[in-house]
Amino acid sequence: MILVQFSLTSELKRTETSFHALAEQKNQHFQMFVNIIHDNCCGDVARIHSALDNVLSNALKYTPSGGKIIYRITETPSKHTNIGNYRFEITDNGIGMDEDTQKHIFEPFYRALKNSNSSVEGTGLGLSIAKAIIDLKGGVISLTSVLGQGTTFVIDLPIPLGNSDTDAVPQNPTLSNLEDYDLSQARILLCEDHPINQKVAYKILCKAGAKVTVASDGKAGSDFFLNSPIGTFNLILMDVRMPIMDGYEATRVIRSSKHPQAKSIPIIAMTANAFAEDVQQSLKAGMNDHLAKPVVPALLYRTILHYLDKTAAIIKKKVLFVDDAELNIAVLTTAINSQYDVLVARNGQEALAVLDANQDIAAIITDIVMPDMDGISLIKKIRSDERYRNIAIIANTQYGDAKQEEELLAIGADDFLYKPTTPQLVRNRLEAALLRYQ
Ligand code: ATP
Ligand code: MG
Repeated sequence: MILVQFSLTSELKRTETSFHALAEQKNQHFQMFVNIIHDNCCGDVARIHSALDNVLSNALKYTPSGGKIIYRITETPSKHTNIGNYRFEITDNGIGMDEDTQKHIFEPFYRALKNSNSSVEGTGLGLSIAKAIIDLKGGVISLTSVLGQGTTFVIDLPIPLGNSDTDAVPQNPTLSNLEDYDLSQARILLCEDHPINQKVAYKILCKAGAKVTVASDGKAGSDFFLNSPIGTFNLILMDVRMPIMDGYEATRVIRSSKHPQAKSIPIIAMTANAFAEDVQQSLKAGMNDHLAKPVVPALLYRTILHYLDKTAAIIKKKVLFVDDAELNIAVLTTAINSQYDVLVARNGQEALAVLDANQDIAAIITDIVMPDMDGISLIKKIRSDERYRNIAIIANTQYGDAKQEEELLAIGADDFLYKPTTPQLVRNRLEAALLRYQ
């Protein structure tokens, strides 16, 4: 988390500039009204931006050309002198949503059915991420919407106030706090042919802790990515104009490949021309976003952090269920299949075969009493195999006494779940067990 002192007005001005330009491209009217008392805030500005911008970009995305988007920011009374209560209202007169859609839109990967076959692209993650951030910050997000008429999102968010005794509102708060950005989770493939641009981007990225691999044209970059084991990179920065193979072509090669991250890895174009048609072309080639050169470090950092948030949710961990009872498999699968990739084995032998074929399985939830090889023998076998050192194991059993629990722990289980279990409990235990191996 990055806590920074920032001027809320300056941040909102930045938002206004970029969304104004985006709205103009779609021939929409974008208006912003700010009425706040405390300007000097302190907080996780990158994440707050990411949450609000997600909601704003939906307003533009789901409003046809000629429509109107209003962004109103007000400050409401606060009980605490060091916390400001801010309200962000985003209203559009776009396509709206029926009541059933409204119930689901905060779920990961949910998209209203009628969008999924239209030209409006998306992953269905924007709002779930926005809500997660807002929840985390103690805020509340709500909406009202009428199908065919439009939508209003209201976000009430408490933000700690900055120390106004210090000269806390620097001219350009974002740029003066560059050292606060933490990109240590970023593993970036930088495709750029120009030696000076290469050096500059490399330096900016490394300064924030990113791990960077440089490729000097599109062919080298796509080759590098296609031959990399899953997870080597979690983002690609792609110059557009390069010799041998340009950035658009390299992106198409990557997107149509069989690499496990072919579709999910964020690819961000970097080019000197940020005209509307360049942006369109890069999106069409399968890039996620577009940054104009020369790169502005704060913008580069924010864009990267924004996409890393999204991919963290997209790369699903694999979980193997071992059980001979169909009903139990169904309960467990329903509990977690939106967050994890679920694999199933009906007995111990089958489980070992599945493990052998999927070395990236992160966790196993296994029944204990099974025909053929039982759960105890299975756990022992897994724990004695070096390759599976980092797999979390949860025993799912009928009988729960202390003696059995002790025995299971002794042979290497991380936790237990007693049958019948509930979806929430499965998720919690699994999350906790996975944390032990991170
Ligand atoms: P992305 O992850 O790229 O943002 P997305 O926009 O489809 O994809 P969300 O932002 O999570 O995903 O939104 C989920 C769904 O909610 C959308 O697919 C759309 O159906 C609906 N939705 C969100 N905002 C609006 C809006 N302002 N007007 C109408 N529908 C909306
Ligand atoms: Mg969205």
